[in-house]
Amino acid sequence: MARYRGSVCRLCRREGAKLFLKGDRCFSEKCALERRAYPPGMHGQGRVRFSDYGVQLREKQKVKRMYGLLEKQFRQTFDSAASLKGRSGENLLILLERRLDNVVFRLGYATSRAEARQLVKHGHFLVNGKKVKTPSIRVKPGWTIGLRESSKKVERISAALDALEGRAVPQWLEVDQEAMQGTIKQMPVREDITLPIDEQLIVELYSR
Ligand code: SF4
Repeated sequence: MARYRGSVCRLCRREGAKLFLKGDRCFSEKCALERRAYPPGMHGQGRVRFSDYGVQLREKQKVKRMYGLLEKQFRQTFDSAASLKGRSGENLLILLERRLDNVVFRLGYATSRAEARQLVKHGHFLVNGKKVKTPSIRVKPGWTIGLRESSKKVERISAALDALEGRAVPQWLEVDQEAMQGTIKQMPVREDITLPIDEQLIVELYSR
């Protein structure tokens, strides 16, 4: 599957927001956005005015990049969200939060969603006791996300768990550090997603 292979920090600088794509570095003073808080490129430091369409497009790109999806996948998720009861924008964010790669990241097994996706694809995780390699699976309340016995010794996973100290696990998830297992306590709600996102702009963009 096609993936963006350029500098991920450029994406944050383009969106003017931390997208947390680079693990620990995002929480340190080495973060590129802290040092160069303007868009990349020759005219990055010039004044940029966006049209309504431009603002909506940037918001969609921001969320898409945050969760590491390509346009087709993101649009499909939006269409699923729009077919559910309730607000399409909120539904979209909740569907994105429920992705297995996001849950692995939120539980602290990886320092970024990209790393979480790779770990899932490499078969390190058990969902309800069964090996799963599909990062896009949507978790449900009561499900357990654990590590395979042989994966408990993987250095990057232990390092990620160590780095989690001080960062909170969302209240819809529960983590048992000793058993290295997470449980989905309940469905996430909009308030659980504390990232600065105006999802209504995405709804407006796709309603054009
Ligand atoms: Fe974005 Fe992280 Fe790079 Fe900072 S360090 S610009 S948050 S990817």
